Amino acid sequence: MTHFEDLSPCDYFGEEYTATFRAVGWLDECHPYTNGDPGPEVFAKMAKLATDGWQLVKFMGWHSCTLCRYDHTRSVRNLFVPAGKVFYVAPEAILHYVAAHGYGPPHEFCQAVLECPPVGSDGYIEAIRETEWATVVHRQLVEDEEELTLDDILRIHHGAQLSSVAFSAAKLARDEIEAFRHLNGRYPASIQEAQSVLARFGDLRYQLSDEGYVLELGGTAEEPLVDRYASGSKFWTIQ
Ligand SMILES: [Zn+2]
Repeated sequence: MTHFEDLSPCDYFGEEYTATFRAVGWLDECHPYTNGDPGPEVFAKMAKLATDGWQLVKFMGWHSCTLCRYDHTRSVRNLFVPAGKVFYVAPEAILHYVAAHGYGPPHEFCQAVLECPPVGSDGYIEAIRETEWATVVHRQLVEDEEELTLDDILRIHHGAQLSSVAFSAAKLARDEIEAFRHLNGRYPASIQEAQSVLARFGDLRYQLSDEGYVLELGGTAEEPLVDRYASGSKFWTIQ
């Protein structure tokens, strides 16, 4: 099971983000953890951030509770809580750890949770822009010569989970469809043709549309979140 000491740099989402992510609530059965009660207000806000908060980095796999004696509660989303230059990053399972296992998250994390502006608000976007994460993303976009800018990313209205062609392995799928179009002068005409072009991406849904095509990856037991891309858009959305 993935374990990080509370407040330690977190490389779970890729080395490039290690300096900007601080781990909170990555518990397992092999390491002692702090007991405590953050209080109902913090708990409620954490729950909201788990549901609505932007997923800054794509789903990286299931997180299973190893503290449970019998059923190992699993979670898939993560909390990204901006605080100055850094984000606190916690698996959604932190809610379960608090509620079921008496875990007490660090005080500074609870403070950041309480102070986090409403998801999608100008304040929320500003708080994200302040972080080192934003600097890293901006640098990547420039290096990759993406048509996407940091502002584009931060302007995505809330509800669309934060993702983009720039950071997703799914970007490769888009590139392969574009390569197909370059060769054939058209997009794949059917899901069968799309599947043959994108065989290595596993399960997918594909449909021609007025603008071009709509592609969805994921949505399986192993990859429960769905990556959706409509040609002509700059964005993938995660649902
Ligand atoms: Zn548990």
